[in-house]
Amino acid sequence: MKILIVEDERRMAAFVEKALAEQSYTTRLVGSCAAARDALAEAPVDAVVLDLGLPDGDGLDLLREWRTSGFNEPVLILSARDAVEDRIRGLNLGADDYLPKPFSIDELLARVRSLLRRHAGVKATVLTHGTVRLDLLARTATSHGKLVDLTSREFALVELFLQNPGRVLTRTFIAERVWQASYDLETNLIDVYVRRLRQKLEGPDQKPLIKTVRGSGYQLI
Ligand code: CA
Repeated sequence: MKILIVEDERRMAAFVEKALAEQSYTTRLVGSCAAARDALAEAPVDAVVLDLGLPDGDGLDLLREWRTSGFNEPVLILSARDAVEDRIRGLNLGADDYLPKPFSIDELLARVRSLLRRHAGVKATVLTHGTVRLDLLARTATSHGKLVDLTSREFALVELFLQNPGRVLTRTFIAERVWQASYDLETNLIDVYVRRLRQKLEGPDQKPLIKTVRGSGYQLI
């Protein structure tokens, strides 16, 4: 699951991003209203953590814009403004929750989990393919019934494959979705990750899970 973090204060942003990434969420961090608009236009996200005081505008205006245009995913406001009227305004504009700064990281993670769970009704939160099972809310992966330890990038990569079974995923597509970047593909980083996933997920029967499509990319089979 991918979470957009809109926060201009660098230390706070790094703190939030690290905590979410440690829970294997894919994160995208931006520090302005303009960058947040671009990020949301570029790729879908499953939730937004939104600061209000941004260098080029107010997070509440951003929220109003998104809700008006039909953006439906959960939004958690993080703000030093903790006056009751500010909270009410945020919630009236379509925020799902409001967390005043300063907050504990455990509380942030609990709120994010709860928001995702509440919105999960309409979405699949467990992805399966053959003997591989990925629980997007609990952030766990199993293969042949056994828990598999995945890094957050590995988790995001498996999630991408399971969302696109049978489809050939190009390295460019994978780089954009998992690394949020037009990654320097010459480094073969994606190939290294795929090799690791094969080792971790393919069972003792050695039945291939991810096929290399020469000249194109990879395919979950
Ligand atoms: Ca701020």
